Amino acid sequence: MADTNIISELESKLGYKRVNFYEKSDEATIKAAYDYAPGYMKYLDAAKTEREAITVSIAMAEAEGYIPYTFGMPLTAGGKYYYNNRGRNLYLFRIGSEPINNGMRIIASHVDVPRIDVKQCPLYEDGGMAFFKTHYYGGIRKYQWVTIPLALHGVVVKADGTVVNVCIGEDPSDPVIYINDLLPHLGRDQSSRPLGSAIPAESLNLLMGTRPCPSGEGGNAIRLNVLSILNEKYGITEEDFLSADLSAVPAVKARDVGLDRSLIGAYGHDDRVCAYPSMTALFGTDDSAHTAIVILADKEEIGSEGNTGLKCDLLIDLMEEITKAMGGHFNTVKINSKCLSSDVSACFDPNFPEVFERRNASMLNCGVAMSKYTGSGGKSGTNDAPAEFIAWIRKIMAEAGVIWQTGELGKTDVGGGGTVAKFIANHNIETVDLGVPVIAMHAPYEIVSKADLYTAHQAFEAFLKA
Ligand code: MN
Ligand code: MN
Repeated sequence: MADTNIISELESKLGYKRVNFYEKSDEATIKAAYDYAPGYMKYLDAAKTEREAITVSIAMAEAEGYIPYTFGMPLTAGGKYYYNNRGRNLYLFRIGSEPINNGMRIIASHVDVPRIDVKQCPLYEDGGMAFFKTHYYGGIRKYQWVTIPLALHGVVVKADGTVVNVCIGEDPSDPVIYINDLLPHLGRDQSSRPLGSAIPAESLNLLMGTRPCPSGEGGNAIRLNVLSILNEKYGITEEDFLSADLSAVPAVKARDVGLDRSLIGAYGHDDRVCAYPSMTALFGTDDSAHTAIVILADKEEIGSEGNTGLKCDLLIDLMEEITKAMGGHFNTVKINSKCLSSDVSACFDPNFPEVFERRNASMLNCGVAMSKYTGSGGKSGTNDAPAEFIAWIRKIMAEAGVIWQTGELGKTDVGGGGTVAKFIANHNIETVDLGVPVIAMHAPYEIVSKADLYTAHQAFEAFLKA
């Protein structure tokens, strides 16, 4: 007969078990997690595109005493600065009291989100309806984006440089736009096709209107009426679409989900659910001796390309400027710097257990998840953070009492994905992924847990302080 006492003693002495936030937290901590959520939900509703996220984030930083930085500016210990990169990418940094050669603490997340972008010659009329042609941005499952209310966000820049901000569909009195789908009665052939090809990309056309302009007819009057409405509201003409960044995003607000209100449903958790807590952690650690950088990147969803993505030299330029201003040696700063690539992970979903490997998937309410590696096909395309760095993270999380877990994207060889981690690690900076588990990642309405969100804030604070 087995001695159950010895078994449980050995288990608690030698075993490892992931911890559930609700099982290990007292009422005050649970309340703190619930109280943290509304600020984040407000941020989500105000920041549906990367441009809006940067605008809102700058306002938050300025309220905390952060001031605009320009290259070559003198910097002082304790100083708080932000670098606004083209309105689509933001670097917040605070100069620490310790020597800059000790390195910097970097938290990098992204604020671009998969969506439906408007093409450069978008407007046409067909079958009594006016539409915008689109080109989707990032890894969307196209079937999820039809027959839901959508809002139009972005900018139109006129040839004289005037920037016109567009936002239609967020105010309750606004109209929304829409992508049509087939009725089931006529969808037999479509329903028999694989999910990935049932909705062809070129059928993701935005329904913009159906009423002809006064006394208009003949296949163009509806198109012209849409142009007239846009001209009246924004002073733009059809040619102005050539220089526009317009996107259709879900016209939905962040809401509590579940009868116990333990979850948050929203568009764009990936990756504002890491961006927001990285900022609140930065704002809450002014007493830290370390120089800290919080990055809100653009273009992560399409490979971190371009001058607002993290493949750009800007991170290095900025770190070099800070190093120079503080009298440090740049290569020393880089090798002593530490970075959390804070991006979301795929949360285990019991409705689809076949794609997850339970022992290593992140579980809901078990805290912020560390991904030692991402990539696919045998760790291809990942920096695979070393054991030494993860051991250091373990130590600081334990010391701060942060509930966290490890989280691999899915079963080996089932799929894969990447983050900005490798681009930062390539600069000789120790980097690992740490982010919030998400259900239905990249869907128009994603789910996260309030507990996991709160542990992200706690984890980032611990990292900036330790
Ligand atoms: Mn992401
Ligand atoms: Mn993503």
